[in-house]
Amino acid sequence: MKIHNFSAGPAILPKSVLEEAAQALLNFNNRGLSILEVSHRGKDIIAVVDEAEALIKEFLAVGDDYKVLFLSGGASTQFFMVPMNLLNEDETAAYLNTGVWADKAIEQAVNYGNIDVVASSKDSNFTFIPKDYKVKPGTKFLHYTSNNTVYGTQFHHIPEVPEGCLLVADMSSDIFCRPVDGKKFDLIYAGAQKNLGPAGVTIVVVKKSILGTVTRKIPTMLDYSVHVKNESMYNTPPVYPIYVTMLTLRWIKAMGGLTAMERRNREKAELLYAEIDRNPYFKGTTAVEDRSWMNATFLADSPEHEAAFLEYCKANKVDGIAGHRSVGGFRASMYNAMDLDSVQFLVELMQNFKP
Ligand SMILES: *Cc1c(COP(=O)(O)O)cnc(C)c1O
Repeated sequence: MKIHNFSAGPAILPKSVLEEAAQALLNFNNRGLSILEVSHRGKDIIAVVDEAEALIKEFLAVGDDYKVLFLSGGASTQFFMVPMNLLNEDETAAYLNTGVWADKAIEQAVNYGNIDVVASSKDSNFTFIPKDYKVKPGTKFLHYTSNNTVYGTQFHHIPEVPEGCLLVADMSSDIFCRPVDGKKFDLIYAGAQKNLGPAGVTIVVVKKSILGTVTRKIPTMLDYSVHVKNESMYNTPPVYPIYVTMLTLRWIKAMGGLTAMERRNREKAELLYAEIDRNPYFKGTTAVEDRSWMNATFLADSPEHEAAFLEYCKANKVDGIAGHRSVGGFRASMYNAMDLDSVQFLVELMQNFKP
């Protein structure tokens, strides 16, 4: 019986991607060698990196004024690399605090300049996306987290910034879930392991002209300019995670690109949220208008029913659906690779659940 994997991350990947990735471990590009055994400077790996970069730029509709980097250290390393590279000590950056990851980004950023938390939903346990705030003129950049993986909220708009203020987004858990106007952003980062690939590579897309404006000394490995200049090959990049990410990007394109992803993700989210709203045993945890397409968070009507439904899921091969400890209940993650039938399967379990 198929296991339906609702894990928040590392998360589900398309089956065809896993099969091709498995094959490359044994015989990559028919060279008779494993992809793990070849030089990152060889032409086959350079072709992989180039194709991944080209697909990312195509999806974001950005040109050669942007560079795609494949870095290590997870999205968490970007929490400090962003302010280290973009913010002088006497400058101010604005942050929207919409969840644990945003909070952690702020915690790091305060070490590099003035941080203005212009809006926060912390007091309500991050159940909504704040919309009533102003970013002051003169702010160097605004940082926000487009999808809040733990709490199940998502920005369904791109925040406005004043003239001259850069826009930075952590898109770790919803990158390429729908079409996006990349030109509105100056820097986008995403750990691959939620919606793109395996853990081990972090995608950074940066507008090259924003670099080189800080005076502090930046360690070589943490300097975006160094990675731009060296095409992500200053040191050995995480070759295999980049390869699997490239296969997923190819899969997205073959599926019909970001418009097809949007259709697919909308359909899954509408199906599940409709059941959460209809079923008397369950209730959603977030503001309806801010509901995430990627991570649906919901609670049972009692602790007994929560335990019973978790058991019921387990017995029926539904995996990874327990909520994060800070929210409780359930979290069904429905990233790009998840098919509608897995969500249909979960909805039927909810319908058949008679505690
Ligand atoms: C998971 C996650 C992170 C942390 O990613 P790592 O790669 O583990 O450092 C950061 N931001 C968001 C939105 C996430 O979902």
